Amino acid sequence: MLETSGDKKKSERTKKKNDIDNKYEELTYKTTNAWDNPHFDKKSINALIEDYKAFMNKAKTEREFIKESVALAKKNKFKNLDEISEGSLKPGDKVYRVVKDRLMLLSVIGQRPAEEGTRIVGAHVDSPRIDIKQNPLYESTDMVFFKTHYYGGIKKYQWLAIPLALHGVIIKADGTKVEINIGEEDDDPVFTITDLLPHLAKDQVSQKVSEAFKGENMNALIGSEPIGNEDDKDRFKNNILKLLNDKYGIVEEDLVSSELQLVPAFKARDVGFDRSMVGAYAHDDRICAYPALMAILETKKPEYTAITYLTDKEEIGSVGNTGAESRALENFIADLCAFTTKKQYSDRLVRASLDRSKMLSADVNAAMDPNYEGTHDRLNAGYLGKGIAIMKYSGSRGKSGASDASAEYLGEIRRLFNENNIPWHITELGAVDKGGGGTIAMMIANLGVDVIDVGVPILSMHSPFEVASKADIYAAYRGYCVFLE
Ligand code: MN
Ligand code: MN
Repeated sequence: MLETSGDKKKSERTKKKNDIDNKYEELTYKTTNAWDNPHFDKKSINALIEDYKAFMNKAKTEREFIKESVALAKKNKFKNLDEISEGSLKPGDKVYRVVKDRLMLLSVIGQRPAEEGTRIVGAHVDSPRIDIKQNPLYESTDMVFFKTHYYGGIKKYQWLAIPLALHGVIIKADGTKVEINIGEEDDDPVFTITDLLPHLAKDQVSQKVSEAFKGENMNALIGSEPIGNEDDKDRFKNNILKLLNDKYGIVEEDLVSSELQLVPAFKARDVGFDRSMVGAYAHDDRICAYPALMAILETKKPEYTAITYLTDKEEIGSVGNTGAESRALENFIADLCAFTTKKQYSDRLVRASLDRSKMLSADVNAAMDPNYEGTHDRLNAGYLGKGIAIMKYSGSRGKSGASDASAEYLGEIRRLFNENNIPWHITELGAVDKGGGGTIAMMIANLGVDVIDVGVPILSMHSPFEVASKADIYAAYRGYCVFLE
């Protein structure tokens, strides 16, 4: 076909436009979808995810997560640091420590002594849930209930009318420990917190959500069959007491010294026709803790001593002797310094190590949900599928209570991920003035460590069924690996 001058001019204009686009494209910050990353293969992603799902179904509480992690650590030839009394550790040695069954530290010793600094990936292994009160048992209207006290930030209505499993421990009068796990097997019974039928919910639904559901009314239904004679007192409750005594050898007072938790009874599942996502209870924060665990298990000969730090109590402020506010990390680093230094050990080595250490605070990020417009600033939001979410600061309103990483440290992490083809994007928790939150980053930053939040974006955070992209989980895992190694 003959080219007319009009067409020629048009094509010249198009060419010019493309040149300008290309020129500015190089100048523009772009994010890519992790599925498009040519350095990721679907087989590796799926292999990690299948293991992750299996692990999640076994580890629904902080105690279970630590128990499973210890098993994996031992399988990978990590030694219990508390059983190494004397001597020294050499590069490549692998050690771990468990604190009170709910916090764990794992380390691979670096080429340099620990006093020259460490590389830490820290995540938490507790999740929002429904705890059983210490004196929980009562009957009403021919039914038996457990009183509960929710743990962490939940939207209470999400936890009603779903099957719940009971996990935890009961310490008997003589000090022996009974482990409880009911509701995970297909033929196990489950428990539930009831909700009101819509037909009679006229008053309930006209209330504010924050007022319509009362924590004190969130009682879990646990039985409805009587024992004994019709005129006996508490014969429905007595039946439960008898069953508990028959099966676990416990009496009612033993419940006082228990930690029992109701968690969703369902398993981790693929989500979507394309199976591109995983839905599960407590992605927050096993979705970062598991990749952090895998990363340290695979770390071989790091330059700096590599540490994975799994903490408890993050959902209620990182408090106590198993939370990130505790001295567990400092004590662990002190021992690593003592076991790796060529100098006379002193407290100054620990201070120096902390000042020179760097950490990724591995915690979930709130992915942009197009069904809830306005909660995020689109330019600075976390997105499902765009790889690791890097968050410079947390906090609320005017960055109050934030952990704020330095531009220098963010630059270092950005460089590391770019050099290793790890997809990432820059995020905030949400739009300014919409709310806020924090992670364990601030506690560790207080010790002198450079810390930045680097985790997986999820949907429906803190609900019984959180959703994440498989490719993002893999990105986090790869990111933690290159950071530790
Ligand atoms: Mn979290
Ligand atoms: Mn959380």
